[in-house]
Amino acid sequence: MALFGTNGVRGIANEYITPELAIDVAKSLGTFMGSKGTIAIGRDTRISGDMLKSAAIAGALSAGLTVIDVGIAPVPAVQYYVRDHTDAGIMITASHNPREYNGIKLIAGDGSEFSREGEDEVEKIYHSREFASSTWDRTGDLRTDHSANEYYIRGIINAVDAESIRKKQFTVVMDTGCGAGSVTLPFLLQRLGCKVITINAQTDGTFPWRNPEPTPDVLTELVDIVRSSGADMGVAQDGDADRAVFVDENGEFIGEEVLLAMIAKYILSRRKGVIVTPVSTSQRMADVAAEAGVELIWTAVGSINVARKMMETGAVFGGEGNGGLIFPQHQYCRDGAMASAVLLEIMAGGTTLSYLTKTVPVYFNSKTKVRCDDLISTMECVKANVSLEKDVKVDTTDGVKVWYNDGWVLIRPSGTEPIVRIFAESKTKSRAEELMSGGLKLVEKCR
Ligand code: MG
Repeated sequence: MALFGTNGVRGIANEYITPELAIDVAKSLGTFMGSKGTIAIGRDTRISGDMLKSAAIAGALSAGLTVIDVGIAPVPAVQYYVRDHTDAGIMITASHNPREYNGIKLIAGDGSEFSREGEDEVEKIYHSREFASSTWDRTGDLRTDHSANEYYIRGIINAVDAESIRKKQFTVVMDTGCGAGSVTLPFLLQRLGCKVITINAQTDGTFPWRNPEPTPDVLTELVDIVRSSGADMGVAQDGDADRAVFVDENGEFIGEEVLLAMIAKYILSRRKGVIVTPVSTSQRMADVAAEAGVELIWTAVGSINVARKMMETGAVFGGEGNGGLIFPQHQYCRDGAMASAVLLEIMAGGTTLSYLTKTVPVYFNSKTKVRCDDLISTMECVKANVSLEKDVKVDTTDGVKVWYNDGWVLIRPSGTEPIVRIFAESKTKSRAEELMSGGLKLVEKCR
């Protein structure tokens, strides 16, 4: 079985994600690093976090690494710390997964997520069980550093126009869901001069009020309090705080695709340059890029692909249409707190969030998924059929995406299940549905 999934190693804590597994993953990382160097290790607020962190520390020390324990911290805070202080990192987290889960995520020396190739190497060592084991006099040192969160908060404050934000004295309601964002977001907002109303900002690995995934159905309190307090913004984070969702001053949720495009538009109004997004993202980004006269680069799905392409091209902004936004002036990873600070900076220019959502074009989406046992031959057949169509543009960066003059459809195999997903988008709901069902028919014919 593959050790690393789309988001590191994940599963039920102390069943699949055991201390033994954490030790062996850390030993594998230590072996991969040639028993040299320093790593930072942090965790989210899950109850099993201390158990797994301690195990991972033991494994890394056994392989001869120096370990710096940064305690409970958002994943972007650990990434920021790793970028500037260590050679790699380990984050004990299961992000937005339910309470009973936990996981292990590896961080590269530049603070970005570990590459797929890097994970494969570590996984090979893990399965071979040929771990580097230090002699008695060479096992590693353990240190603790409680400054990672403060370092991260300061980094964000320096990357935005903090002075203009402070002058506005915004009221912000925030729900960090008792997750890792609870140790940073309230303090960041406070230092940006906001009046902060907190919900679920105590760290609690039982996640007593809501699961770590910030979906609208569990954020009713956030909406209610934004409305009753007359706040300027509401923000909620997932368990490891790399993503954030926002509500405007009327308590309306801002669609994640809309958020991505409106921030891209703002950034391009200040600085022209390449922007980057996966092929699954809305056409809104393409419209924003065209309006600004800049290039938009489409990548395969996954924030690591976006981040790497941004580094390669010196892009000014990038992100995914799921609330994962990457700001190169801060760091090359998804960052929910940085997204909050940038929104406040935009608002400090004199606009409301509800107004901003209306500055990007309207599109409609339609999606479905279909079971498919032979993904490879089905996708070959889809490709062959699509290549026969006239007046379309085809992109095979990730799955098969077909652009028509009035919309697009993306047919994409799942990386983990025998499923093909079909997404479509157009200016009208009916055309989006038509494109989706065309895609579905093609997959059904091919599978
Ligand atoms: Mg997350």
